[in-house]
Amino acid sequence: MHIVLLGAPGSGKGTQAGIISQRLGIAHVASGDLFREAANRGDELGQQVKSYMEKGLLVPDEITIKMISECIAAPDCNKGFILDGFPRTLGQAKALDEALGEKGESVEMALYIEVSTKELVRRLSGRFICRGCQTIYHAITSPRQVGAGRCERCGGELYQRSDDLPETVRKRIEVYFAETSPLIDYYRGEGKLVEINGEGAIEEVEQKVLGALKGKWA
Ligand SMILES: [Zn+2]
Repeated sequence: MHIVLLGAPGSGKGTQAGIISQRLGIAHVASGDLFREAANRGDELGQQVKSYMEKGLLVPDEITIKMISECIAAPDCNKGFILDGFPRTLGQAKALDEALGEKGESVEMALYIEVSTKELVRRLSGRFICRGCQTIYHAITSPRQVGAGRCERCGGELYQRSDDLPETVRKRIEVYFAETSPLIDYYRGEGKLVEINGEGAIEEVEQKVLGALKGKWA
């Protein structure tokens, strides 16, 4: 089983990838984890990855493809994998097809966890931090404290980091959609795209995802 998982930041795709990998006994390959591991290893590739991450830049396709190809060729991935955070661009998707094609394998399914921009902004922009004790509050889980604008522990003022402001979040989501919409079209064209509504509770989304996988592999 070779599954690609697509979804915007805040769609909950990392959580679903973890669940799927456990249920199916396949590897969960998260590009973010690979980048962090490489940066910590500190070899030549790791040094390059680290310098992009430190500058807040996306790691270029060439490096990303190399890392993913190495990872999916490892014994851990013998039973299959679910890719989380990769491919991110059409170029990466084609490189993945090529790498798998050399082994006579292919991506069988691209699962797209769909969440509206409005809901993504609500989920991602609700973080508030106390100026006094740095306690983190979220508008969804602590509406009362956020509404009051004061920390429950120390009475300090709550503020938002610029990364967590709705307009910053909205821009990040727009960039994501602009980048991945060709990818979604590509997998749709190949007849591999399965769209899942990701707006419900984690368990509801999980049931829909497992249903789609059963339909394909049961
Ligand atoms: Zn506080």
